[in-house]
Amino acid sequence: MGLTFNPMNTKTAEISFDVEKIRKDFPILQREINGNPLVYFDNAATSQTPQQVIDVIVNYYSNYNANIHRGVHYLSQVATDKYEQARETIRAHFNAAHVHEIILTSGTTHSINLVASGFSTMLEKGDEIIVSALEHHSNIVPWQMLCEKTGAELKVIPMTSLGELSFEEYAKLLSDRTKLVVVNHVSNALGTINPIEKIIKKAHEVGAAVLIDGAQAAPHIKADVQALDVDFYTMSAHKVCGPTGVGMLYGKEEWLTKLPPYQGGGEMIDQVSFEKTTYAGLPHKFEAGTPNICGGIAFGAALDYMNGIGFDQIAAYEEKLLHYATDKLLEIDGVKIIGTSKQKTAVISFNIHGVHPYDMGTIMDKLGIAVRTGHHCAQPIMDYYHVPGTIRASFSFYNTKEEIDLFIKAVNKAKMMLS
Ligand SMILES: *Cc1c(COP(=O)(O)O)cnc(C)c1O
Repeated sequence: MGLTFNPMNTKTAEISFDVEKIRKDFPILQREINGNPLVYFDNAATSQTPQQVIDVIVNYYSNYNANIHRGVHYLSQVATDKYEQARETIRAHFNAAHVHEIILTSGTTHSINLVASGFSTMLEKGDEIIVSALEHHSNIVPWQMLCEKTGAELKVIPMTSLGELSFEEYAKLLSDRTKLVVVNHVSNALGTINPIEKIIKKAHEVGAAVLIDGAQAAPHIKADVQALDVDFYTMSAHKVCGPTGVGMLYGKEEWLTKLPPYQGGGEMIDQVSFEKTTYAGLPHKFEAGTPNICGGIAFGAALDYMNGIGFDQIAAYEEKLLHYATDKLLEIDGVKIIGTSKQKTAVISFNIHGVHPYDMGTIMDKLGIAVRTGHHCAQPIMDYYHVPGTIRASFSFYNTKEEIDLFIKAVNKAKMMLS
């Protein structure tokens, strides 16, 4: 199962990528499912966790579990230092100007709801929020709730049959009524990479703030929030080899200062009395209660792990997997790939003529292959294509060409059984 890159075949000069060595870091990849080796192609839903990150989690509970920012005792200080170091790792990864612009949340969904809730005091009837047709439900529903509360109106950037957003139509939707533009960096259902730099720039011309949902981009693309000039950027640790239940909201200082706190409680206050409570400064203003301390520390370790491999290397390798799998899949009669944008991460959504995605997924599971079937929390995209759902294979840097061969064999077998 060896697959090492010949440096002559890649754009990046000195690429060294030893996938077999990398796979040894992931204990789960050694296991079997239903008597078959696990082929894990559901990376767009969650990534697997390397031993380096598991060790950090075990070490936390074995050696310095304590509440942070409160105790003067030794363990509390160690835990606080590690937690704040992780915040700095996250800041550096996304190149935020200030460490207090990194709010640690429970994940993308929490991050988006935090911003949507904050804007409820700033929007009124007649204001508009622009979303895109390519969004995950977690970047649609909070904005619909915000519109219901404030009387603002939701406008939708339409998509094309390739699974791309129409920039022309987007430009037409913008006006001085636009207060917010919310778009994902990468679509989880189709893998489309959206031209967010252009989208952000255009929104700023009318004075609108921009939130980018980076949950699906984060495993593949290192975003630079200052270069993008984005107002808010969100992601979840569990998609970048970290644990579930922790994630990030980046916000420009000026916006985070303007937004009211999301939840009240411990940690987010300065002074509390029954007459008046004053709030803590950034980032604590948005971090009420005891956070996911171990998760935050492991989140930092996960980014360190991925940066140790290198995002350029990861992207170049995953692109090869994507092309290989796409070519092989298209050799199968009746396969239709849904979402064929030129700019794509390693995600393939597809259907097979006459086969229900769910039936296909069930047979694949029997063969040890983990793919996602259904609407992928993006029902408007499925409606656009008039399909109930798709089969989605999403690849990570620890997947191999040999696994794709097993997957293709399984698709053929399932197809024979089902049609
Ligand atoms: C995974 C994902 C989300 C939701 O992330 P949670 O970790 O479930 O909060 C939102 N948007 C996109 C594009 C995603 O891929």
